[in-house]
This record gives sequence, structure tokens and C-alpha cells, in this order.
Amino acid sequence: MTFKSTYLKLTFFYVLIVMAISVSFSIAIYQISSREIGRGLGPQSGIFRNMTDDFENIRNQQIEESSNRLKTNLFYYNLAILILSSIGGYFLARRTLKPIEEAMEAQNRFTADASHELRTPLAAIRAEIEVALRDRKFSFSDSKKLLKSNLEEIEKLENLANALLKIARVQEEKKDFEILSLDEVIIEAFEKVEKLADKKEIEFDNKFIRVNIKGDQQSLVELFVVLLDNAIKYSQEKSKINILMKKERNDISIKIKDHGIGIKASDLPYIFNRFYRADTSRSKEKIDGYGLGLSIAKQIVDFHGGKISAKSTPGKGSEFTVLLLS
Ligand code: ADP
Repeated sequence: MTFKSTYLKLTFFYVLIVMAISVSFSIAIYQISSREIGRGLGPQSGIFRNMTDDFENIRNQQIEESSNRLKTNLFYYNLAILILSSIGGYFLARRTLKPIEEAMEAQNRFTADASHELRTPLAAIRAEIEVALRDRKFSFSDSKKLLKSNLEEIEKLENLANALLKIARVQEEKKDFEILSLDEVIIEAFEKVEKLADKKEIEFDNKFIRVNIKGDQQSLVELFVVLLDNAIKYSQEKSKINILMKKERNDISIKIKDHGIGIKASDLPYIFNRFYRADTSRSKEKIDGYGLGLSIAKQIVDFHGGKISAKSTPGKGSEFTVLLLS
């Protein structure tokens, strides 16, 4: 609704500019042409120099008729320009404002999704406290249980806040890239998720190559933490994960392959969207997450001029491939 009035306002300004130019040209054309007609048919003109009063009247009439015709023509000409510039202006205004409108819609959707996600743990904390306050037989051990559960919800809130911060930071950070060793970046990410993998007794089969790339160390570590964390999170206990690095012409490809629950073909196109979570009901326990990890990963890859893609077979596993310029 707000954008409709902005379209009209912008169209009005476009038309105003075009009409200001057109009307000033028309006035100039009218003045020059009137002068020329006057000079051409005027008393100093050789044709009419020795003419009688009757001819003088005819001449004045002709001057007036010519100038009226000129006025009418210029009027229609300006009317046509007004109509064309209104149509063209509206079209141009829509084209100019479309990306801004889309960005604003995405921002609004993001804010709504983020608020919704923030409200869920807050509502859980509130409900638990309210129930506890109403319970007259609330014991010390009950209160410990309540605090533990509250703490879990607070942890979720912290994770969400951190993910939201990361999104904002990747968006605004356009710092200078440094030359860094990609294998060391992946190893650093691997060390961050190692404990999780150990807990599930997941085995890694890694093939690294030594290669340098230009990039931002912190965000690249973040990228591989997201991919490795997902691979572990969506894998069964005692399964295997492969990390394979390869040089392909000017690119370095890094494949992270798990043998976990996989992703349905109908979910696959959306997994890089913010807050998108595929149906994880196939797995036995509920897997925590906000659907922000892969969108952060994609943002980091885009920011480095690379590509990220995913292949998956439900029940068999998933493979994420990152292509980065070497
Ligand atoms: P989440 O916090 O839910 O893991 P992500 O953005 O990292 O958010 O992932 C989006 C969705 O993609 C996940 O909810 C999950 O359904 C699916 N997904 C991502 N990685 C994997 C994987 N390795 N195996 C199976 N599903 C995955």
C-alpha cells in the first residue's frame, strides 16, 4: 500500500521533469516560429512590400492562423508527451522501486520469523514459571528442575541471538581478505565440532590438500562449522562423515558427505532459505535448530564469490559441496 503511493509520487516527479523540459522547448519553439512567420510575412517582406490594406489584412489573418495552428500543434504535442511520460514514468518508477520493495518485504519477513522464534522459548519459560507459582507443593527439587529447564530455553535464546548477529555481521562486513590456508581453516572448524562427533562416536574420513585462498578466516571457519555441525547433527550414532578437498581448475571444491537421515527432494531447494527447517520427523529425537545455519553458510560463500550446493538421498545421507576460488 505504501509502495503504491511511492510509485505514484515518483511517477509524478518523472512527469514533472519531462513536462518542464517539453513546455520550455514548446515556448521557445513558439517564440522562434512566431518571429519567423512574422518576418516571412511581415511588411518588410519583399512579397507584401507594396500591397494595399486588403492584402495587409489578409497577411495579418495568415500570421494569426499560422500562429494558432502552431499553438494547437504544440498543445497536442505536449498532451501526447504528458500521456507517454505518465505511462513510461509509472513503468520506470515500478522498475526503480521493485528491488527496494522486495528487500523490504524480505526484511519484514525476517523480522517476523525472528520474533516468532524468539517468542517460543520465552513463552515456554513464562508458562513453566506460572505453573510453578501456582503450585503450593512446589519443592526444592522441583525448583531445581524448573531452573534447569529455564536454562535450556535461555541457551536456545542465546544460540538464536548469536545466529541473528552472525547474519547481520556477514551482511555488513566487507573487510579486506587475507591469504589463508584453507586446509587449516577446515581443521580449525573440525576441532570445534570434534566433541559433538565423539559423543555420537562418528568417524571421519578426511582428504585434505594444502591450498591457499583469499578470504576471511573467521567467516570461513564459521561456514565449515555449520556444515560439519549439520552433518553430525543429522547423522545416526557410529556413522561416517567424509571431508574431501580437491582442486578443480581455478576452484577448490570441498565436499562434506554424511550418511545420515538425508533431505527430501521437495525440501532441498529451500534449505538455504532463512528459518527453513525440513521435516525431521523421520529422525527419532527432535533435532534442535532454527534453520539459520545454511543461510549463514550461503551468505559467507556468496561473500567469497563461491558456490554452495547440496545433493541428498533420504535415508542414505547428504553431500554439501563448496566451491571457492583458489
Ligand atoms: P538447522 O538449524 O535446522 O540445522 P540449517 O539452516 O543448518 O538449520 O539447515 C536447514 C535444514 O536443512 C535443516 O533443518 C535440515 O532439515 C536440513 N539439513 C541441513 N543439513 C543437513 C544434513 N547434513 N542432513 C540432513 N538434513 C540437513
